[in-house]
This record gives sequence, C-alpha cells and structure tokens, in this order.
Amino acid sequence: MLLPRFCYHEPENLEQALVIMNEVKGKGLPLAGGTDLLVNMKKGIMCPENLICVSGIQKLRQIHAAKGKMNIGACVRVGELAKSIEIRTFFSALAEGAMSLGSPLIRNMATIGGNIVTARPAADLPPSLMAYGARIMLRNIYGERLVVLEDFFKGPGETIRNSEEIVTEILLNKPPEYSGAAYMKLGVRQALEISIVNVAVYMELNAKDGAICKPRVILGSVAPTPIRAFSSEQILSGEKPSKALFESAAEAASSDCKPITDFRASEEYRKDMVKVLTKRALVKAYREARKE
Ligand SMILES: Cc1cc2nc3c(=O)[nH]c(=O)nc-3n(C[C@H](O)[C@H](O)[C@H](O)COP(=O)(O)OP(=O)(O)OC[C@H]3O[C@@H](n4cnc5c(N)ncnc54)[C@H](O)[C@@H]3O)c2cc1C
Repeated sequence: MLLPRFCYHEPENLEQALVIMNEVKGKGLPLAGGTDLLVNMKKGIMCPENLICVSGIQKLRQIHAAKGKMNIGACVRVGELAKSIEIRTFFSALAEGAMSLGSPLIRNMATIGGNIVTARPAADLPPSLMAYGARIMLRNIYGERLVVLEDFFKGPGETIRNSEEIVTEILLNKPPEYSGAAYMKLGVRQALEISIVNVAVYMELNAKDGAICKPRVILGSVAPTPIRAFSSEQILSGEKPSKALFESAAEAASSDCKPITDFRASEEYRKDMVKVLTKRALVKAYREARKE
C-alpha cells in the first residue's frame, strides 16, 4: 500500500507551524510520530493534502516540572514517558499506560499528543491522564485555550479541536503526599494489543490511615470515549478504604458503562472485566497512597 500524494511541511518552530496550519485552512494535519496517521493514509481512511511535521519542534518535546506542576510537550514520545523518572515517581499510572502501549518500536515513535488526538476509545494514555485531572493546551495563530481532557473527546476519532489548532502541551498538577493511582489494561495478548477494557483510578487520602477524597475512576474501551464512572466515585468519596468498599465501587463501575459487543469481546465480558480491573486498580492505588 502506497501513501497518497500530499505536500510535506517541516516548520522550524511552533509559530511557523501555526502559520502553515492557518494557511492550509483545514486541508492539513499535524504529523507527529505517524504511527496512526500514516497507517490510516496508507489504508485510504485519511487523505490530507498537507502534512505539517511537528515532531521536530523542540518546544513540544520537553517535560518541564516546577512548583507542583508538570507540563508535558505534545510531541514527547511514549517511550520517553515510560522511562522518565519524574513521570514514574509522580504519575505512575501514566508510566504504566505508556509501558503498555504497542511495542518498543511504536513507543519510540508515538507521541502523547498523537495518542490523545486520535481519540480512540481504547487508547492507553487518556484514562490515566483523566484520572490525574489533566488539561491540554490548544493553540492557533490567534491564541490558546486550555481544555480539561475529559471535555476534549466527542466520540470515536472526534474531538473539539478546530482544524487549525495544534495541541502543544499536557498540564498536570503533582499529586499530594497521600495519593495513589493505577492503570490496568486487558487485551487478548500481553503486547502489541488494543485494550478490551482499560481502567485508571486515582485517590487521595486525608491522612495515611484516613478516608478517600477526590477519587476518580476512568474506564476505557467501554463507551465511545473514555468515561468517568461517577457512581463508583460517589461510593468511594469520604469513605475509609476497605475490601468491601472497593468491591462495591467496582460493581458500580461496571454498571456505569455500556460497552459494545465486537470481535474482541462481548458486552457482558467487558462489564465483568471492568469490575475485576477496577477492584485491582483500587487496591494498587491505595497501596501507593499509603506508600506501602
Ligand atoms: C502496531 C501498532 C500498535 C499500536 N498499539 C497501540 C496501543 O497499544 N495503544 C494505543 O493507545 N495506541 C496504539 N497504537 C496507535 C498509535 O501508535 C498511538 O495512538 C500513538 O500514540 C499516536 O501518536 P503519533 O505521534 O504516532 O500520532 P500521529 O500518527 O502522528 O497522529 C495521529 C493523529 O493525531 C494528530 N496529531 C498528532 N499530534 C498532534 C498535535 N500535537 N496537535 C494536534 N493534532 C495532532 C494527527 O494529525 C493525527 O490526526 C498502535 C499503532 C500501531 C501502528
């Protein structure tokens, strides 16, 4: 399969990239790692007239930590996320998501921005990013806007991004002392596999042996976009962690989703697996919160 014809642009910096995005007026797409876009172009699913390569723009390739915040450039590679000591220390669930994406070859090319913008319901990074309350910065030549990640997705492959906008960075707040998170993925195989179900959870404790506050339970691959399991979060909120509490929160997460049946798994199986993974993720996040 050959690529269709297109005009290739290699801007030297973000400002140049934004000008080109504006000039091509919706007839161009940013090219980052190309692991999704080029595959879709070869299959004839996407046919942009212009590709604007953003992966060489240094400003988009940095991880910057300061004053309790962490900014991740949109073109930071998934492999870099998985290896980053700061990400592994403060955002372990994101590092887990990055480690489980594709293969070493794919992780060396794929970027965090590309993984978000593809808006696949089964994508590996959005659930943990949503669990940490991530926001993303979108820019065009006129300015920028900051969007909460869970508001970014509209449906499979659909987002609120305007055609001339580039995602420039992902913004996270460093979690407080007694907090923990976990990411769990179930696929048919251990590697190079799209999720049948994935789950990310986050919790804070108001003291080492205290109650749960600000819980977040995010489910992927069970709805058109990654979703928050609100009734599960409600069950956890303000309660002291226990096996029974985690079981009922996991049960609620399973009722919060309406997965489809496809060649990978049935609706019933997905719901059952949401329950299993949510419970395991809660136990893991709780251990991290208690620093065990
Ligand atoms: C063999 C294989 C295995 C895979 N396994 C997995 C997996 O296990 N889990 C998973 O989640 N994904 C998987 N993928 C999908 C893909 O690798 C990821 O989604 C990857 O993160 C996409 O990033 P990219 O940089 O390659 O994006 P690209 O392919 O460059 O771009 C994807 C889309 O995002 C847009 N885009 C990219 N960057 C920006 C930006 N900064 N601003 C605005 N728009 C942007 C592009 O225009 C395009 O529409 C796999 C792909 C392959 C080929």
